[in-house]
Amino acid sequence: MANKIHDYIIVGAGSAGCVLANRLSENGKYTVCILEAGPVDKTPFASIPAAFGYFMFSKKYNWSYNAKPEPSIRNGAPIFVPRGKMLGGSSSTNAMLYIRGQKQDYDHWQNLGNEGWSYDDMLPYFKKSETNTRGESQYHGGNGPLHVSDGNINFPLNKIFLNASEEAGYNITDDFNNGSQEGAGYYQCTIKDGKRCSAAKAYLIPTLERKNVTVIVEALTTKVLLENKNAIGIEYVKRGKHYTIKANKEVIISSGAINSPQLLMLSGIGDKQHLQQHDIHCIHHLPGVGKNLQEHVDACVLVKSKKRDGLSTSVRGLLRMLPETIKYFTKKQGKLSNTITEAGAFLKSN
Ligand SMILES: Cc1cc2nc3c(=O)[nH]c(=O)nc-3n(C[C@H](O)[C@H](O)[C@H](O)COP(=O)(O)OP(=O)(O)OC[C@H]3O[C@@H](n4cnc5c(N)ncnc54)[C@H](O)[C@@H]3O)c2cc1C
Repeated sequence: MANKIHDYIIVGAGSAGCVLANRLSENGKYTVCILEAGPVDKTPFASIPAAFGYFMFSKKYNWSYNAKPEPSIRNGAPIFVPRGKMLGGSSSTNAMLYIRGQKQDYDHWQNLGNEGWSYDDMLPYFKKSETNTRGESQYHGGNGPLHVSDGNINFPLNKIFLNASEEAGYNITDDFNNGSQEGAGYYQCTIKDGKRCSAAKAYLIPTLERKNVTVIVEALTTKVLLENKNAIGIEYVKRGKHYTIKANKEVIISSGAINSPQLLMLSGIGDKQHLQQHDIHCIHHLPGVGKNLQEHVDACVLVKSKKRDGLSTSVRGLLRMLPETIKYFTKKQGKLSNTITEAGAFLKSN
């Protein structure tokens, strides 16, 4: 296939890639091509906030990785590692909780020598990106592409959880993003008018009207092309056919925390010894690639209850959701219009 040339090539249309495609194409000076391995986000489940659990079991919209088993965890059973695979990436499949990092973490990055990454440096960009239904304030934006809202609280257990947190002496907060996360409270979510506001909806879809943006879906990038250790293009596969695209300026890899280092390694950038084990010619020996991933653990605790005010996937439980489904599709309200993770806490623990 003949080479196409763009100024910027972005690999992965997830949270990061969608923002980059929007911002790099904004002034109209540069052509931007963004490639996504997954499909478009047209499934209705990508809009219904409470449907996020659906993607956990989807082979089409989830990379569905398993971490290497650890004998000390779950007796060595595989640990499921979900990752979104469609326009919007994990922002189209996640729980939508709007949580920035803790202030001290950004300041730590800056202290490590990363100029421009302190909390005070980041805050204007958080604000710029956000339209919060509570309005503009010291910590929140009122005019950005990403919509953040307070959901209706549907499950009484959350109120009980917050009362218990208070009783136990923990701080109760009404904003996890005001510079200090500590405490328990209800989450704000990236939801607009009862629909998920993914990075694709917020940033990428609006760029489709721009002539300088090309979006290629169901296209798996397999290699970054290097010339004298400079990235000059990529190779990708779509429906069994192989293609090459060249970049005038930059190749940006925003394929997520797992696939980004994988793509670098497939391209010959990584630990030489490790690449040799897989018969990959090492072009640039960079031992840190693919190492030191840190991920939070999600341990689900399911409890049987005689009360009928929680969520259930039993036939009866689903039938009880029927009025809610009608309410959602007619008014974008009710139990389907918010995440199912309504409250939470950030606590110091020993
Ligand atoms: C189940 C789950 C729940 C979460 N809940 C929350 C939450 O409530 N709040 C929150 O703030 N964060 C949450 N997160 C985390 C958040 O979604 C991620 O941190 C964020 O989306 C990562 O953005 P990213 O751009 O790095 O990667 P992604 O958004 O995952 O995007 C990477 C994209 O690259 C594509 N890709 C990968 N490899 C290739 C390739 N070779 N060629 C072409 N395309 C490729 C992928 O298909 C994907 O679309 C959750 C994540 C998961 C998985």
